[in-house]
Amino acid sequence: MKNTATPSQRSTKQKTAIITYLRSVKTHPTAEMVYLALKKKMPQLSLGTVYRNLDAYAQEGKSLLFEVKGQQRFDGDVSPHSHFACDACGGVQDLWFALPLPKVKKHLSHGASVRSIDVLIKGQCDTCNVR
Ligand SMILES: [Zn+2]
Ligand SMILES: [Zn+2]
Repeated sequence: MKNTATPSQRSTKQKTAIITYLRSVKTHPTAEMVYLALKKKMPQLSLGTVYRNLDAYAQEGKSLLFEVKGQQRFDGDVSPHSHFACDACGGVQDLWFALPLPKVKKHLSHGASVRSIDVLIKGQCDTCNVR
């Protein structure tokens, strides 16, 4: 049977696969990690397509985006949480504690309001520390 998918059907399928993958992992992947995980199943996928979709998704507020060791990392879990990133291996861990909002507000100028708090703590993970 001939492949009759139109380019736009193909790109919708790719977008769905990219987002589904991002939401299924806890690794806070780079665009390249997502690309490498999906390209076996989707040989037509390009790194540029993965990056564009991940970036657009983050701009829409549907995923988190932060930088570790100069690389952009994406997180499909937008519930409020913070991160610990290892400077050595680039591993990222979720931290599920809340910063006390009254304390944060004390440091802000009067009348300012807080929309979200995401803290990125940097250091070395347990594995890298024993090396
Ligand atoms: Zn590490
Ligand atoms: Zn996270």
